[in-house]
Amino acid sequence: MEELNCDLLVIGSGPGGYVCGIRAGQLGVDTIVVEARAHGGTCLNVGCIPSKALIHAAEEFHKATGFTAPNSLGISVQAPEIDLGQTVAWKDGIVARLNGGVGALLRRAGARAIIGQARFRDGKSVIVKTDMGEQLIHARRIVIATGSVPFEIPSLPFGGDVISSTGALALTSVPNRLIVVGGGYIGLEIGTAMAKLGSEVTVVEFASKILPQYDNELTRPVADRLEALGINVMLNAKAEGLNADKDRLRVTLGDGETTELPFDKVLVAVGRKPCTQDVGLEELSLRMNGAFIQVDDRCQTSMRDVYAIGDVTGEPMLAHRAIAQGEMTAEIVAGGPHAWDKQCIPAVCFTDPEIVTAGLSPEEAKAQFGETVTGKFPFTANGRAMTMENEAGFIRVVARADNHVVLGIQATGGGISELAAVFAHAIEMGARLEDIAGTIHAHPTQSEGLQEAALKALGHAIHF
Ligand code: FAD
Repeated sequence: MEELNCDLLVIGSGPGGYVCGIRAGQLGVDTIVVEARAHGGTCLNVGCIPSKALIHAAEEFHKATGFTAPNSLGISVQAPEIDLGQTVAWKDGIVARLNGGVGALLRRAGARAIIGQARFRDGKSVIVKTDMGEQLIHARRIVIATGSVPFEIPSLPFGGDVISSTGALALTSVPNRLIVVGGGYIGLEIGTAMAKLGSEVTVVEFASKILPQYDNELTRPVADRLEALGINVMLNAKAEGLNADKDRLRVTLGDGETTELPFDKVLVAVGRKPCTQDVGLEELSLRMNGAFIQVDDRCQTSMRDVYAIGDVTGEPMLAHRAIAQGEMTAEIVAGGPHAWDKQCIPAVCFTDPEIVTAGLSPEEAKAQFGETVTGKFPFTANGRAMTMENEAGFIRVVARADNHVVLGIQATGGGISELAAVFAHAIEMGARLEDIAGTIHAHPTQSEGLQEAALKALGHAIHF
């Protein structure tokens, strides 16, 4: 068996692992990154990027469809058609470009990349199964960045017409009837896209509301839009499994009644679980946090020189959290004094309209800091939103009442995801309401809503 040595071995080349590998290489650490499938992990291959490609294509198609009827913009077109196979090929082209880019960035940083399945032999060595045979890698330090996989409902296993988000993002034709089990962000993003492409979509959600982690004010515009798109949202409804003919989904409703829903595809999107199987973790003695690997504020596990980053370490399972942890861990491995000191991890839901949150919700802010002030500005009063027909939604700012330090910013609206960084900057830099209110926000932009929300919290909004 071929044997290799390195200072740092990173297992998994998702956004956590590849960023860690690139930064470690840049810092002169002798680094190997092992990836079982393709560079970029879930995010780039079957997650963030493919889903946003599908959402974009669906939006374009839906817009074009809207122009076949008389409309206020005065645009008219013939009924559009979509070749989803071509759309998926376009999406795959983007993924391939980004895959190749990650490999090139690793090489340029001086990190070695190996495609193969890694399995711990002990805390200092790993066996990697590659197409060319097995390799034994000895490493002074190891970063576990194996990510997450879709959660499977035991009574509704993946296979046939029951698909995960990965399957949904590879469909080459639009299913006539799609049932989405799970009203979280992944299910709603893909369900909305499919509805815009012409699918008859039903969402089956166990909880009493969609997107349960957000407050009603934030989710109402999304719920309204789902209704406008004709999506049937069943709340307090539990997907039990398929009928004997495997052509209907058995659902128990809140009142205990059961019903059977016909479908062409069932997308199960009920969350993700850490990828800790087939990694050989049983050879280590890691302290776990439920199913996740427990880490401290330096991403150090309970074993010396073994680190873990990204989805495998817990919520929020988001690519940019994995990236930040990956970068920080590379600095630490290179001898830096770094520790996790982020004030917020923004989250974006690419529903219609989009939802962005950064920092604390109004309830969390109150619970942690006592008296707070809140300012909310609706896009119905924003000129740019009107010109883009994006009037649904608002920006809301919550700050401490005593010193006006901004604790949280939430928003929902068309294209609002692009303001996520602005919200995070304000919180990370410790901005006060006066800082946001006193910053010139370019006109006409939706970002003026942020300035107005801050002014509102100060008691003197101008445009509302
Ligand atoms: P992953 O990206 O899961 O990468 C882990 C890698 O490790 C994989 O490539 C895997 O093959 C490899 N691996 C596992 N075991 C081994 C082994 N034993 N040996 C070698 N390699 C191994 N997040 C956002 O922030 N924004 C979004 O808009 C967003 N949209 C999403 C949409 C969908 C449909 C899905 C499914 C996810 C989405 N996410 C989004 C979540 C995001 O993809 C994850 O949070 C992110 O990919 C986690 O990064 P990671 O590096 O921890 O792990």
